[in-house]
Amino acid sequence: MSELALSFADIEAAHMRLSGVAHRTPVLTSASADAMTGARLFFKCENFQRAGAFKLRGAYNAIARLDADRRTAGVVAFSSGNHAQAIALAARLLGTRAVIVMPRDAPQIKAAATRGYGGEVVLYDRYSEDREAIGRRLAEERGLALIPPYDHPEVMAGQGTTAKELFEDSGGLELLLVPLGGGGLLAGCAVAAQALCPGCAVIGVEPQAGNDGQRSLRAGHIVHIDTPDTIADGAQTQHLGQFTFPVIRDLVRDIVTVSDAELIEAMAFFAGRLKIIVEATGALAAAAAFAARVPVRGKRVGIVVSGGNVDPARFAELIQRTGRAAPAQS
Ligand SMILES: *Cc1c(COP(=O)(O)O)cnc(C)c1O
Repeated sequence: MSELALSFADIEAAHMRLSGVAHRTPVLTSASADAMTGARLFFKCENFQRAGAFKLRGAYNAIARLDADRRTAGVVAFSSGNHAQAIALAARLLGTRAVIVMPRDAPQIKAAATRGYGGEVVLYDRYSEDREAIGRRLAEERGLALIPPYDHPEVMAGQGTTAKELFEDSGGLELLLVPLGGGGLLAGCAVAAQALCPGCAVIGVEPQAGNDGQRSLRAGHIVHIDTPDTIADGAQTQHLGQFTFPVIRDLVRDIVTVSDAELIEAMAFFAGRLKIIVEATGALAAAAAFAARVPVRGKRVGIVVSGGNVDPARFAELIQRTGRAAPAQS
């Protein structure tokens, strides 16, 4: 097998660094979710993570690994939101500063939260400007270390600690479903699965409108697409990364897609039955199980619930359409 960007030892080292910093988030179960799917589902709830998503894991690990001089100079990141908040918080925790390049139309709650953690926000137009070029220019001009949202071995190692905890706390799984944007979370989780539960099939889930990952896995090379139109704003990536793709190609069984309507159904289920707020991107993996995009019946299935950052008003608007805001019983 070719040399991959990260090993399980990197994930173990990241987990030590994150101890006392990131929450060990709960693994929830639900009798009604099990009854609906005929499976035993274990929800790893990163919507309860600090800054509201798993992204703190990778961000903190990557900044902690910078040498002292670079770390003091500060970091820059480009992100549709959750990576931005994570970088801003991680930088503050590690005593350095963060500049965040963020799309002008990013959810208001995400820009405000980033500023709240002490990050400096630089806005750009996601349809006409190149965020990577802006990020690189800021890095050069101000001597900042660029921390990408997914295509970075230390970021991937940090994200992999999510699955490490899930395997440890659920006591073994046959299937692991993971939301997929650029693939940092999926690649990290796949490496953890290979080490801790080699028989477990790992499956990525992405929005139907942005199925570049599925096409890449089938084509055997990275497929680029235009910015997809989906409510899963954390998975609007245009392509997998040079580090994430080889890991996904070698260790991930399949990539499936779900529609925006299926995401909203899953968000409503989480609110109505588990009483938790999950953002659209965070509901990708659960939606694949609920909509039977993957056969789960009779299996022990890990579901990564990756984040919960959604404006309450926006959440209410989405859920209203399903008519499932108030289930008769739970
Ligand atoms: C970033 C993000 C993802 C996708 O992660 P990648 O590492 O880019 O694949 C999924 N869910 C949420 C909530 C995110 O913020």
